[in-house]
Amino acid sequence: MNSLQNIKGLLIDIDDTITRHKAGVPMSGSSLFDVLQTAGVALGCLSAHETARRIESVKNEVRWWHWSDFIVALELNPKQFWDYAYNIESTYLEATGAEILPALCRLQAHGMLLYIASNNPSSGILHKLRLAGIAHVNGSTLFSQLLGATEMHAMKWEPNYWRKALAHIALDASEVAVVGDNPHDDYAVPREVGIPVSFILDRFCDRRGQSTESLIYVNDFDEIADALLPEKHLHPLVNGKVSDPALQAKLVLNGATVPC
Ligand SMILES: [Mg+2]
Repeated sequence: MNSLQNIKGLLIDIDDTITRHKAGVPMSGSSLFDVLQTAGVALGCLSAHETARRIESVKNEVRWWHWSDFIVALELNPKQFWDYAYNIESTYLEATGAEILPALCRLQAHGMLLYIASNNPSSGILHKLRLAGIAHVNGSTLFSQLLGATEMHAMKWEPNYWRKALAHIALDASEVAVVGDNPHDDYAVPREVGIPVSFILDRFCDRRGQSTESLIYVNDFDEIADALLPEKHLHPLVNGKVSDPALQAKLVLNGATVPC
């Protein structure tokens, strides 16, 4: 059997797969830790020194920390913090492509289970999905589970991350494929635990000629949906509009801007 026919779930990376740093915007000072530092002063009414001290304290005391550890340590209002973080990080983070949500909805509508596989903790995953315009920090209807490194107690470059991810979702290695941008973390390491296929996204360079049966290079998420779904001719956008009412409803549910 073609290994793609057996795929029931996708383990999807976030950084440089779903979100990316905007071109031309400086990288320095653009992380959620930088946002926490300014939030401690602007929202928490702490001094810059006290904010930095509390952030370091959490880092030193909590090995597998969550962003909530810092929010509580800085005595921030969570709703206010996440909106503040969204407003700041939306100036330098963006979705890698506009087709991501329609393609993922198409896959989900055909029964594919979707999971996020990321070194971000789960609250950071939702924050980045919000920045990509496909979920909210309160939750996501698109993804069945958020498999953050904090939740797995392992990083994606460790085979144990992938073993634990499979244990969480109760699927065999042969039943999942990975979607990511890093040939080592998103292909070589999951391959070590028996995951048969990885889709590696490269939007800037056409490497599809280098694809093998197990390592499939793609330019966008539509190519992944086309490869996995039997009705390859069915595209959710017809003349730039969503043609399927059920899919359109799903897109609205996920907070997307739907061209209809
Ligand atoms: Mg990545």
